Amino acid sequence: MGEFVREQLPDSVSYYESEGLTLQRGTKWRTTSCNFHGGSDSMRVNTVTGAFVCMAGCGARGGDVLAYHRAAHGMGFVEAAKALGAYREDGRDHKTSNKPAPVPARALLEVAAFELTVCAMVLSDALEGNLTDDDFDRFRDAASRVIYVAEVANA
Ligand SMILES: [Zn+2]
Repeated sequence: MGEFVREQLPDSVSYYESEGLTLQRGTKWRTTSCNFHGGSDSMRVNTVTGAFVCMAGCGARGGDVLAYHRAAHGMGFVEAAKALGAYREDGRDHKTSNKPAPVPARALLEVAAFELTVCAMVLSDALEGNLTDDDFDRFRDAASRVIYVAEVANA
């Protein structure tokens, strides 16, 4: 068994162009043709995350270039990850460090902000006397995530 290495996925723009798509000018989301149903300009792809979605409603959509590759070529997860050079076999490639890539500070802040919002909602329910066991569990999860984020940020 090996493992998927997300950081080794190809850059979204070069990947989609290598798939024969022409991306129209734009910023984050770019318009292109949908090869799934043949629409000439219904596909939107995200140049940052690689997410794609067909606006013609043919059902083609996914969160990254790996999802696109699987859908476009009928591949499974591992097969597509290997095809894109984003799969590390066990016992090989000793040069690659196993250390996970650092999480961007902005992403950490977004997680912390979201979890704190959850805490605030649970607290306001509690003040109104509507605290359920589920709420409390969610509160504990949220609090521990904020603590985890703080630890990651300090690592
Ligand atoms: Zn489509």
